Amino acid sequence: MANGGPEIEQLIQLLARLPGLGPRSARRAVLHLIKKKEQLMLPLSAALDRAVVAVKSCEVCGNVDTISPCSICSDARRGESGILIVVEDVADLWALERAGVGQVRYHVLGGVLSPLDGVGPDDLNLDGLIGRAHGYSEIVLAMNATVEGQTTAHYITDRLAGTGIKVTRLAHGVPVGGELDYLDEGTLSQALKARTEI
Ligand code: ZN
Repeated sequence: MANGGPEIEQLIQLLARLPGLGPRSARRAVLHLIKKKEQLMLPLSAALDRAVVAVKSCEVCGNVDTISPCSICSDARRGESGILIVVEDVADLWALERAGVGQVRYHVLGGVLSPLDGVGPDDLNLDGLIGRAHGYSEIVLAMNATVEGQTTAHYITDRLAGTGIKVTRLAHGVPVGGELDYLDEGTLSQALKARTEI
């Protein structure tokens, strides 16, 4: 139901399509933007205009940046560790960078294998990964701990078998600050399997 004209209604509908925002949150956001036209709406509109022109996908790793190759791929120090971390999405790359994982490079798959959703190997940036893997001494598979994520990790491991490149994956287990009593059985049994010597 339109309350304030088609322009406002369209804005609400577009914002409601953003992850984490439903129609209710979108209406609140739009109302806030209208009230803060000078401080928020105009700068946001200008920032969106600039981002539309500037943002591009890195031709090497699939990261988003304003240059391609991206600033991570262009940084020579990043190549020295020989570590390439494979992630499903740019959001995962950002999370690892926030965690300060060090001088590593990344490869963004753009999703995971999911036969039910019709996502096959050709739909992901897998050939790009196989093509550049030879330049690294270790490939770290940092897929989500979901069935699809692990299926994708197995697929990549198979594709890299026989190349001599070390393939590792993130440990699954007890989160930092986590209490054993609150963990689900799957996580707890994975943590026991992946135990390490102190
Ligand atoms: Zn890149």
